[in-house]
Amino acid sequence: MSDRERERITARGGKHGGERGDERAPTLLRGDVSPTTATAAPVRAYWVPRAILQRAWELLRQDGLRGVESTVLLGGRRFGAEAVVMAVVYPCGADVTHEASFVHVGSNTTAEMGRWLRGEGLTALMQVHTHPGAWTGHSPTDDDFSIASSEGFLSLVWPQYAAAPVQHIEELGVHQLRDGRWHALDAQEARGLIRVVESDAMVWTPGIAPRPARGAGGGASDAPVPHLVRTIP
Ligand SMILES: [Zn+2]
Repeated sequence: MSDRERERITARGGKHGGERGDERAPTLLRGDVSPTTATAAPVRAYWVPRAILQRAWELLRQDGLRGVESTVLLGGRRFGAEAVVMAVVYPCGADVTHEASFVHVGSNTTAEMGRWLRGEGLTALMQVHTHPGAWTGHSPTDDDFSIASSEGFLSLVWPQYAAAPVQHIEELGVHQLRDGRWHALDAQEARGLIRVVESDAMVWTPGIAPRPARGAGGGASDAPVPHLVRTIP
């Protein structure tokens, strides 16, 4: 199916049906967490700790396992031309509707998410939502009901109800609001703009002699003993 056909059908159908082969997943996110937008130079790089991406995946997948779409908002801070993601916000409760091809966050909850972020000294940087199938495009409904409308805001689409984690950001659909229109970023653009930082690492120095085993006849191992440094974000 061509993109044009897909758009036409999606526009006609509103929220897309759950029939097989129809993988469009418009998401209704009414309201805006950043109603007042300061005009600023575009962000050149968003730094996303792996731990935050992992947490987002866990939250989205929980709903995905129930066969419904889900969404989270990633918040952080801007530092000059760069921004750092520091928090994941999961909307829930009676004001949020999860369906097979549809997730709707009520305006009260959207406003509450904005208040929570501001309370932490953070701003909304990107939204993430799931689609049922492999299609990670932005439906017209996705275009019209993003959770924020600020210039440069990012929208990530996780395929297959977030059944699997991702290694590289381009495995998600990456869309950006520019001059009031949503643009799909290609893999190179997505990777250049969103830097997933490995926030947890085991680091060792190769070639260091193993430590002697404690006690006599302790059965010293030939295996090297790594010099271990574990970094927690
Ligand atoms: Zn969608």
